[in-house]
Amino acid sequence: MAQFAVIGLGRFGSAASLELMRLGHQVIGIDSNSKFINRLADQLSHAVIADATDELALQELDIAGCDAVLVAIGENLEASILCVLNLKNIGVNQIWVKATSKAHHMILSRLGVSRIIHPEEEMGVKVAQALNYPMVSQYMALGNNQYLVEIDVSPRLEGHRIDELLADGAAFVKVVLVKRRDKLLSPVATDFVLERHDSLILAGSLEILKSLAPKLS
Ligand code: ADP
Repeated sequence: MAQFAVIGLGRFGSAASLELMRLGHQVIGIDSNSKFINRLADQLSHAVIADATDELALQELDIAGCDAVLVAIGENLEASILCVLNLKNIGVNQIWVKATSKAHHMILSRLGVSRIIHPEEEMGVKVAQALNYPMVSQYMALGNNQYLVEIDVSPRLEGHRIDELLADGAAFVKVVLVKRRDKLLSPVATDFVLERHDSLILAGSLEILKSLAPKLS
């Protein structure tokens, strides 16, 4: 279990903090507006009304001990930057920040934050990829053109063996596991028979995964 702080509990910050809680972590939520704190108070480990541009206030909250801090202050560029400077001053190493403009991005990269997030752009790319391959429900880039994808197997493939579906592609792709309801089945034998609602987690190059995905849908 890790400990996170999320500063700014608008739509982005509250979604991120609730998901971190669901994943079993400790989350301290901070917002200068009591309305947002009251809304989430009983769903987070701690929820505190504080102004993140005030270094003393952050020090008192002892967030230097957190594994990472997510700064999700919306359009307020000045507050976001002051907050990052304060976090740096109190010794937070992992600082992830939501950026809202090019100028914001440039300043954040100069400040050396760990990760700059552009939710709209990143989501746009994900949605386009999902529309392009509707059967690919999740994917992760592993570098060197290698990807991990989750493919929801079409009901028409129920009862088919995995090796017969992958055919020639089988030599170039790794079947990492099969997700069957709440179970993760691994290792997956070549004669594994698929059931309705199974998901396949495959690893391989983008080209080979692209060629296989339509056969599985
Ligand atoms: P979203 O697009 O994610 O909904 P918002 O701009 O609506 O983003 O939310 C930003 C949140 O950050 C708001 O809840 C706001 O109260 C909070 N916020 C703004 N400035 C500060 C600050 N100085 N300290 C703490 N929280 C702040």
